[in-house]
Amino acid sequence: MFKNIKNIDKIVYGVGSFNQLDDIIAPIRQENNKYFVFIVDDFFKGKELEKRLPLKDEDIVKFVFTSKDEPKTGQIDELRDDIMNKKGLPSGVVGIGGGSAMDIAKALSVMFGQEGSSTLYQGLNLAKNPGVYHVGIPTISGTGAECSTTAVLTGPEKKLGIKCEYTPFNQLILDPELTSTVPRDKWFYTGMDCYIHCIESSTGRLYNTFSKAYGDTALQLCREVYLGKNSGQTLENAEKLMVASLFGGLSLSYSEVGVCHALSYGLSYVLGTRHGIANCISFNVLDDYYPQGLTEFREMLVTNKIELPKNLAKDWSEEQITKMAEIAYALSHMWDHALGTGWKEKLNLDTVKDLFRRM
Ligand code: NAD
Ligand code: ZN
Repeated sequence: MFKNIKNIDKIVYGVGSFNQLDDIIAPIRQENNKYFVFIVDDFFKGKELEKRLPLKDEDIVKFVFTSKDEPKTGQIDELRDDIMNKKGLPSGVVGIGGGSAMDIAKALSVMFGQEGSSTLYQGLNLAKNPGVYHVGIPTISGTGAECSTTAVLTGPEKKLGIKCEYTPFNQLILDPELTSTVPRDKWFYTGMDCYIHCIESSTGRLYNTFSKAYGDTALQLCREVYLGKNSGQTLENAEKLMVASLFGGLSLSYSEVGVCHALSYGLSYVLGTRHGIANCISFNVLDDYYPQGLTEFREMLVTNKIELPKNLAKDWSEEQITKMAEIAYALSHMWDHALGTGWKEKLNLDTVKDLFRRM
């Protein structure tokens, strides 16, 4: 069976394209209770972008605090219940921010169509009703969350996406200028999420020409942004990285992440480590799995003068390492893609624990 991929309906790309938001959502404002919910990363509170939001009287702005916690199922349930109780179903949701804000906007829009807690819909095709119209406006590049069919949420029992055909955005606005304020470390770590997506996508059994076409372009763009004489955080590179992020995500839509993301999920679940840096820490111990990608990744660290945290595991308890390994080991679709269907014969829980001990 080949995947039947639900893609983004519409995309606007270009420096300054954020200004088109008002016109784009105007026709949708006729639906449901005729107001929009803006989910905005709290970095933008009081900043110029807040003043540029095309708000109408009835609209709701929710600033989301993303610098500590990744999106939670409880947070989505609370947002939906609060908004529904006060104003009923909105015309749509606009998400502005990084992967976290993208996922909150996607999950919220799906949950506007479902009953009960979002924990019930973590998994594949569990949501039965359409959600509401939603627009994604990324302000940091790398995760591919802007185009993926999943909205990753951490619940009481698991970190797993709401993955269904109602999850992808109806509209993307890709304005590279919005990423100009990203601090250098986050620019690197989140950008590396894209690089690692492409490496993992290309080294597993689901890889095909569709994934390769997008992944090769994304890898080339990452190399231009992070290696060589024109590397660095310039507007030209912001334009490249925004497309790389999108293409990295599209490469994954026909392929899958692998060993690095499995470990990274374990790390984030137990310690709350942010996705981008958790990937980098995990990737750095995977010489046995991704030797070529690692050589290039380490060159990128040097070129951009990034000091990756090391010797972390010495402070972790055996219990924490076991939990990390159990979370990682349970992500069978990632191991299956990376190592093949017989992956359990190649690797057991102790092997995974040893990988965490190297971090
Ligand atoms: P993020 O959304 O977690 O934000 C990281 C930090 O960057 C925050 O402190 C935020 O305030 C700040 N920030 C964002 N834009 C900024 C800007 N323009 N200027 C200054 N600061 C800015 O970052 P992320 O790395 O993009 O996303 C990580 C999240 O994405 C995780 O929750 C992860 O689970 C999720 N993710 C989802 C998918 C998917 O397919 N759905 C894929 C990968 C990652
Ligand atoms: Zn990722």
